[in-house]
Amino acid sequence: MQLIDGVKISGEIKQEIADEVIAINARGGKIPHLAAILVGHDGGSETYVSNKVKACAQVGFNSTLIRYEEDISQESLMAKIKELNEDEDIDGFIVQLPLPKHISESKVIESINPSKDVDGFHPINVGRMSLGIPCFVSATPNGILELIKRYNIETSQKNCVVIGRSNIVGRPMSILMSLKANPGNATVTLCHSKTLHLKEICLSADIIITALGSPGFLTGEMVKEGAVVIDVGTTRIESNQTKSGYKLKGDVNFEEVAPKCSFITPVPGGVGPMTIVSLLKNTLLASTKKIYS
Ligand code: NAP
Repeated sequence: MQLIDGVKISGEIKQEIADEVIAINARGGKIPHLAAILVGHDGGSETYVSNKVKACAQVGFNSTLIRYEEDISQESLMAKIKELNEDEDIDGFIVQLPLPKHISESKVIESINPSKDVDGFHPINVGRMSLGIPCFVSATPNGILELIKRYNIETSQKNCVVIGRSNIVGRPMSILMSLKANPGNATVTLCHSKTLHLKEICLSADIIITALGSPGFLTGEMVKEGAVVIDVGTTRIESNQTKSGYKLKGDVNFEEVAPKCSFITPVPGGVGPMTIVSLLKNTLLASTKKIYS
């Protein structure tokens, strides 16, 4: 069994991006600039956004954090998005989700210029991804593809089971694995809460990607010998062993599943660290204006 080390790979990619920024600087080019809009004071969102801003600084990007109170109107938020769409200094921007209930997430996402949508959530980017046309692929699926590439994991001709059909992880992951591409060319089954005979389906899988948010859901008896298991799940559970009082638990029962696997991602330290790095990669790509020229 080989552990897929997301901390190591994400560190390597950050270094590659930082080197690219040095090269851009040396030739007098424009330093990539990411903006992030954060609405309200949700603890999780605050942490995610501050980690994104920190990561920008680590690789030498410029970043701008725009904060609004929970009660901002849809119109005011859209006005800011329009401003960012038109601001030539901003290469890409994100609106941290979830948004307060009175704001339509889909309207907000659709108002972002696809050429600056570095989260890859705009329907145009999702559509282009589905067609295999260059686009911004959303961060978590992009990070998983990168791990698969860097560990030389063969996906062609393999049976891949994705559990979870969310728009940000499961569904795009299932599409990417089925594309005529490398990684890709897999035969994909997308499972969800209404799927019957999940255990049998999983037992037929060469690659299993879990994105449910149900700690320890995938047990040893659901996995065949030699399978590749990628665990996206991160659920906070209470713990008296950590300072924070909680720890992150994946969707995979690691103790049972790991001994059967050829490759497996741990939680934490697997997919998680790749997500921010993918956002940085998309921002670098956005700054080149190569996709939407
Ligand atoms: P989500 O929107 O809540 O979707 C969960 C999916 O799991 C749904 O499609 C649901 O099916 C399916 N599901 C739930 N229970 C199931 C069951 N018993 N059997 C089969 N399918 C079941 O979740 P998400 O946003 O994709 O996130 C999933 C997990 O990944 C969470 O733990 C989240 O924290 C984590 N995550 C991690 C990262 C990272 O960077 N590491 C990034 C994003 C998300 P239905 O559609 O039928 O309801």
